[in-house]
Amino acid sequence: MKSIKDIYKIGKGPSSSHTMGPQKAATIFRSKYPEAELFQVKLYGSLAKTGLGHGTDRVLRESFVPTPSQIEFISEADFELPHANTMDIAAYRDGREIGRCRVMSIGGGDIAIEGQSAETDADIYKETNFDEILSFCREKGIRIYEYAEMHEEDIYEHLSCVWAVMKESIQEGLGKSGFLPGGLEVERKAAKIYRASPSESGTAAENRLVSAYAFAVSEQNADNGTIVTAPTCGSCGVLPAVLKYMQDKNKYSDTEILRALATAGVVGNVVKRNASLSGAECGCQAEVGTACSMAAAALSELAGLDLDRLEYAAEIAMEHHIGLTCDPVCGLVQIPCIERNAVAALGAINASDLAGVLGNTNKVSFDTIVKTMYETGIDLHSRYKETSEGGLAKLYGEGDKQE
Ligand code: SF4
Repeated sequence: MKSIKDIYKIGKGPSSSHTMGPQKAATIFRSKYPEAELFQVKLYGSLAKTGLGHGTDRVLRESFVPTPSQIEFISEADFELPHANTMDIAAYRDGREIGRCRVMSIGGGDIAIEGQSAETDADIYKETNFDEILSFCREKGIRIYEYAEMHEEDIYEHLSCVWAVMKESIQEGLGKSGFLPGGLEVERKAAKIYRASPSESGTAAENRLVSAYAFAVSEQNADNGTIVTAPTCGSCGVLPAVLKYMQDKNKYSDTEILRALATAGVVGNVVKRNASLSGAECGCQAEVGTACSMAAAALSELAGLDLDRLEYAAEIAMEHHIGLTCDPVCGLVQIPCIERNAVAALGAINASDLAGVLGNTNKVSFDTIVKTMYETGIDLHSRYKETSEGGLAKLYGEGDKQE
């Protein structure tokens, strides 16, 4: 498995596969052809179907500046797509093509370039699934964050920046009001949730605060703000929401939070290695489902649960997202995405609590549920994989309350 730094990328929303990935591809391609007078990009699959709402064209144009660019959305490709998010980039000079490449935006902001080995670095972790990681940790008598420390000495430098940006995105999101861009007239609600019923206590207060934080980050993402993929842009609100809430509530130190982030990163890495983090490939279960597992594992680390319980928490969190479709209305990362982050954050707290009580009674391993998620995702119809052709994206309309 690769570095867990790849799970946590700091960048601008709203979509890791539709903005961060294409931006990376365009930047690499532009540096290869600095003499180009024109860049042409053809977007296929999910990139073509929801690229407009996700801002793919805007990000690409910005990435090629000052060189002009032409962006085409091609909904029906005349070849079999190597990935649901595929794009062709070509460079021109004096009216002649001087270079081209086919790029796949494979999720979480990562890309693969056709004909080249995977763009990411060599494997850092030799274990390939959660079971192997747990065996390693048990043999050495260590926690999962220590497993990450052993393999990535500098990991906390990166995670410190990650935690700082996560907290900033909460603060900035809570400080804003008005409507999100894109034409759906979705109002920013984080501040409203945060301020509601300040006198309440217990579970009601917890639900409200966690939701407010998740809304804050997800609304920043929808507004092209700076966020951290955890593991994607669309699911960026879950992990920061639970960590911020628990740090304030239980006075965890930043060191403890960074260890929880390392633990969550290992969990995200296992999903990335054995399944997918891409809504276009496996639906929202791959994005918000994974975020919920990461958050549940992070909370279990903070609570000091043993490795069996930590695995159980991550498994519960994923199990109840199985089959979750990706059907963003108008191709925007707003409905159902923003609320979904809040619901998943609360689900992560519940999953960790349940695992703490139930102990090592789980029948299903984390590896099995990850495999189940992947197979379910592959079986899902393309309508439910970030194409905005089915589900809520199709049925949202006249009968619904337009804000
Ligand atoms: S529905 Fe889920 S996977 Fe799809 S865009 Fe929204 S957050 Fe991402």
